[in-house]
Amino acid sequence: MCPGCDPILRHGGISVEKYRSVAIDGPAGAGKSTLARQAARELGFLYVDTGAIYRTVALRVLRAGADASDPAQVVPLLEGLDIRMDYGPDGEQRMFLGGEDVSRAIRENRVSGLASQVSAIPEVRAFLLDFQRRQAREHDVIMDGRDIGTVVLPNADVKVFLTAAPEARAMRRVKDLEARGQSAGFETVLAEIRERDARDENRPVAPLRRAEDAVLLDTSELNLAQSLRALLDIIEERLRG
Ligand code: C5P
Repeated sequence: MCPGCDPILRHGGISVEKYRSVAIDGPAGAGKSTLARQAARELGFLYVDTGAIYRTVALRVLRAGADASDPAQVVPLLEGLDIRMDYGPDGEQRMFLGGEDVSRAIRENRVSGLASQVSAIPEVRAFLLDFQRRQAREHDVIMDGRDIGTVVLPNADVKVFLTAAPEARAMRRVKDLEARGQSAGFETVLAEIRERDARDENRPVAPLRRAEDAVLLDTSELNLAQSLRALLDIIEERLRG
C-alpha cells in the first residue's frame, strides 16, 4: 500500500500516526466541549465529543429500563448496540442510536448522571475504545473526554487538562441548560457536579486524572474568549514544537 494512502505509516515496526491529535480532558462543565469545538474549527480539525458517545449508551440503557449502575443489566445491551456518529452540514457532531438521531435527547439532564454511571463499567469503556480511536486514525482530531490523554490517545501530540472551580462549572451548566430551554437550580446542579466528579475521579477503570504530560488550563477566572485564546496558544505551541 502506498504510504500516502495509509493513515498509519510504519517505520521499523513502530507505527507513526499520520494525523495530528489533541486530547482534552477535564471534569464536567469546565468548558471542554465549547472550547474544543471552537478550537477545532479554528484549526480545521475534526471535533470528537466522546461524552456524547457515553451519553448515547446511557440513553439506550434508559430506554431499555435497565439500571445504569448494574453491569449485569448494562453489559448485555452492548451486544447489538447500534451507535453511529456523523457530522451535519453545520459541522456539528450528531449521534444516532438504532438509526434515530438522538443528538438532542442525550443532552437531557437525567442522561448526564446515567452516562457517568455506565461509563464506570469496564465493558462499556472497552466497547467504546476502538470506536473513539478510529476517529484519530482517520482525521486530525481534537477529542475531549475524561481519559483521552491517559487511555484513548496516550500518544496524542497535545494534551490539555481543562478545569475550573465546581461553582464556576455549576453556574455555566445552569446557563447552558437554560439556553436549551431546561431549568435547574444552582445548588442542585452543583451537587450533581460534585457527585459526578467524585464518581469520575474514583472509579477503578480510567478514572479522571491529569496525564503527566498534559498542560493544565484552569478557566475559573477566564471568559470564553480568553479561555479559547489560552487553549489555542497551548495547542499551536505544542504542534509547532
Ligand atoms: O462530557 P459529558 O458530560 O458529556 O460526559 C458524560 C459522562 O460520560 C461523564 O460524566 C463521564 O462520566 C463520562 N465520560 C467518560 N469518559 C469520556 C467522556 C465521558 O467517562 N471520555
